[in-house]
Amino acid sequence: MKKSTRKFPFNKIIITLLCISLLVSIGFSFKIYNYYLDANDLLQYFEGENDLLRFSLSEANGTVNDLSSEIDHSKDIESQFYEYEYLYDEAQVKYEMLKIDYNLLENYKFEANKKIAYLTFDDGPSNETLEMLKILKQYDVKATFFVNNGANAVIKEISNQGHLLANHTSSHQYNNLYVSTETFKSDILKLQETVYDLTGQTTNIFRFPGGSNTGYIKKVTGSSDITHFKEALTEMGYIYFDWNVDSGDARGKNVSTSTIANNVLDQCMGKREAVILMHTLDSKHTTTLALPLIIEGLLEQGFSFAILSNKTAPIRFID
Ligand SMILES: [Zn+2]
Repeated sequence: MKKSTRKFPFNKIIITLLCISLLVSIGFSFKIYNYYLDANDLLQYFEGENDLLRFSLSEANGTVNDLSSEIDHSKDIESQFYEYEYLYDEAQVKYEMLKIDYNLLENYKFEANKKIAYLTFDDGPSNETLEMLKILKQYDVKATFFVNNGANAVIKEISNQGHLLANHTSSHQYNNLYVSTETFKSDILKLQETVYDLTGQTTNIFRFPGGSNTGYIKKVTGSSDITHFKEALTEMGYIYFDWNVDSGDARGKNVSTSTIANNVLDQCMGKREAVILMHTLDSKHTTTLALPLIIEGLLEQGFSFAILSNKTAPIRFID
């Protein structure tokens, strides 16, 4: 009996399996190929993107470079600004300094152009002095009175009205006061004490009776050398004034009002400082009458009025 020799179909199965696996492989390969293609597309896409990014990056770099050069430029401008600011401050300080110099210069010019008249009244005082005080008050002008001892009430009034009481010795007696340094000093001290007792004031302004160079001194001392009198004055703390304008009111009795006024106004013409000699005695009424003309004329000439002081340039016949 013939045994069934039908064999199990291994070959077919293997072939089938092989075929299947081949088909699967082909399928996978195809799929992989598709993946490959997709990946390639992506790669190309990213490469494109990459190029774009590189381009953007280089552009950004360019912008950064531009900006940094602009920043450098701004820094230059900033430092220039500070430099200019410093120069501006410096210029402003210089401007202020110049302004001070300018004002000083203007002040000097003003002072240099200023004309000052010193009305000085010698001798007395007397009742006539009271009339003069009224006129001075009316014009609001202050004057210097070189007084001698006498009318105490008038001396007080001169002081009350703000005028300067200056020393012209107590006696005005040439024959006594110019005898020696001692008589000279004691005559000055006597008046000094009177003024102090009456007003509580002292002065350091003096005028020689007769002036420092009129010959009165020589008549008494026999010499025109007055050095010892000057030294005595310095010792006592006095400075002395003569005059550079003479009203001429002592050249006789009742010199006319117009002559006195014209004498003063003519001599003041062209002067910057005028120390004007007048007298204030009862016999000098025309001087009182001339006073308003003198004041108005001097104001017209551009003078202002002041009292003598140690700041006034000393007007002296002999220094
Ligand atoms: Zn006198």
